Amino acid sequence: MAIDLEEDIRIDYLRDVWLEERQVRLGMLRLDLVHPLVSGNKWFKLKENIQAARASGRRSLLSFGGAYSNHLHALAAAAAAYGLHAIGVVRGLPGDTLSPTLEDCRSMGMELQFVSREIYRRKEDPEYLASLQQHYPEAWLVPEGGNNEAGMSGAGAIASRIPADTGMVCLPVGTGATFSGIRAKLDRHIPMTGFTAMKGGGYLEPGIAGVLPDGQDNWRLETSFHFGGFARYDDVLLRFINGFYERHNIQLDFVYTGKMMYGIYELIRTGIIQAGTHLVCIHTGGLQGNRGLPPGLLPAMQ
Ligand SMILES: *Cc1c(COP(=O)(O)O)cnc(C)c1O
Repeated sequence: MAIDLEEDIRIDYLRDVWLEERQVRLGMLRLDLVHPLVSGNKWFKLKENIQAARASGRRSLLSFGGAYSNHLHALAAAAAAYGLHAIGVVRGLPGDTLSPTLEDCRSMGMELQFVSREIYRRKEDPEYLASLQQHYPEAWLVPEGGNNEAGMSGAGAIASRIPADTGMVCLPVGTGATFSGIRAKLDRHIPMTGFTAMKGGGYLEPGIAGVLPDGQDNWRLETSFHFGGFARYDDVLLRFINGFYERHNIQLDFVYTGKMMYGIYELIRTGIIQAGTHLVCIHTGGLQGNRGLPPGLLPAMQ
């Protein structure tokens, strides 16, 4: 079963009186709809990794993530679809019960390797990676979040889905691979804003600038909508996600897309995003991660 994900991608324009009053046209590129398991931006970051793995005769994909990792989830599904074995190096000890995410990963055939936080921290250390490679000689190693050259290059394909008359593009940012991949390919006249999902996200700026071609400088990171840090949340965010679903029938996740959409509405409310803007935001998927919330917190969506 090869994956043809990219057919269903569309842009939904939000019908919203509040937006109309402020004369903002807000479209959402629905990467969340492309596949139930390999949803969102993760597929784009994986596809060239899969090609490279196959081209070099590797039989498995190995990567890293936490208990609710969208990346490991997508990688397990994509590997299964392409007949590759998958190995997930997971931060933390197995515990008595696996998270629903890791349950899915395992049932899709992923081999789970639990490592301590100390070892997990070495996920980019060349010596550690060499020892993993030695242990799994058949494996193609993919960094956490799919953040490598193949990942960024694959994400670049998303740029072709942005209409030429778009006045601004917004998307959530974790490692920055999706953001840089799109920025590298998108018409440089269209400004891009990335909403960082973690506290102090400005540290990503030099890394993003460093991988972009000369002249691709029409972008900024919006670092103030982190809600306390990565995968942190509060009532305000949850109320927003519930309300958004009630109004638009579109689910958001609490780690990435919920924070971005909240931020976009704030930037419109405060006039930073101005009347007349044609904005396209990217729904990067990741809805499976909402299973990391205690039950009952997103009643509208359940
Ligand atoms: C992983 C993820 C991101 C972040 O992508 P990066 O390329 O790491 O910046 C954004 N949104 C969702 C839903 C994700 O799962």
